[in-house]
Amino acid sequence: TDIIVDVRNLAVEYGRGRKTLRAVDDVSFSVHRGETLAIIGESGSGKSSTAHALAGLVGTAAGSITTNLDSPAFGKGGSSHLIFQNPTSALNTRMASWACVAEPMAPGRVRIPQSLRPKAVELLRRVGLGAELADRLPTQLSGGQRQRVTIARALASKAPLILCDEPVASLDVSLQEEVLQLLAELRDEHDLTYIFISHDLGSVARIADRVAVMYLGRIVEIGPVATVLRTPSHPYTQALLAAAPHIELERRSRRKALVRGELPDPRNPPSGCRFRTRCPFAMDRCASESPALRAASNSAHSSACHLSSPATSTGISNLPQ
Ligand code: SF4
Ligand code: MG
Repeated sequence: TDIIVDVRNLAVEYGRGRKTLRAVDDVSFSVHRGETLAIIGESGSGKSSTAHALAGLVGTAAGSITTNLDSPAFGKGGSSHLIFQNPTSALNTRMASWACVAEPMAPGRVRIPQSLRPKAVELLRRVGLGAELADRLPTQLSGGQRQRVTIARALASKAPLILCDEPVASLDVSLQEEVLQLLAELRDEHDLTYIFISHDLGSVARIADRVAVMYLGRIVEIGPVATVLRTPSHPYTQALLAAAPHIELERRSRRKALVRGELPDPRNPPSGCRFRTRCPFAMDRCASESPALRAASNSAHSSACHLSSPATSTGISNLPQ
């Protein structure tokens, strides 16, 4: 199949020496053309840092990012495009909306040529903004309109891979729905691939094909969105879902696994399983052994928990398949 980006053992670090924060640690996944991979987690999970590494905005401390995109300019804004949570910070507030949209079509130009205006207006129309808004500054638009401008800008970049960092988090619920719908339509029209960063399971259920759940810099579970949301395997995912009553879960998956306590200091994560200080099922083994991602319900669905990988000493793993 057509893998558009392959991430292997990625690490992202901030700071130096004893103050070093390893925000992403040993993360691997791949994304197929036309698919939407959601990365979900609380703040501090490393989900944004993963997207920023893919966009080339932060350096990688270890691992590799291999892309199969037409343009060699990946990571410099050529073939991937980042849509931020806060559209205002992503737009030049001194430029008219049409020029914000046209900017990626005129790389390196200080003045955006008027000749790009018709194309920009057409893109604005496609995202639901009338021509009468084309000359307004971003600050003269509503939050929802601004986010539509950033989406039109992403289309103008012609990047096949769009990194969406909490693109609807700052919008009202009714607007969130509209923008998610728009993103899904554009994905199908333009054969786009999305990496969709979110802390909201509802948005993820609406737009993603697969979901990776991150906790303290690691992926703890990854799989098809329907499988992970209906039959979560990792206690952390179960806790997230238990706290999201609007998501329909299979009964047996709704364990009473509410996350307790505070997120540990990411500069000094717990030994073994990083979730163990908040996990109701923690065992001795969890403090000494870091669980690897292993097949959960099927080969496309993996989870990193000792509960789903019996200790080899029991002999269970030696049974014939
Ligand atoms: Fe909980 Fe242990 Fe599984 Fe970690 S490995 S999620 S602490 S049971
Ligand atoms: Mg973030």
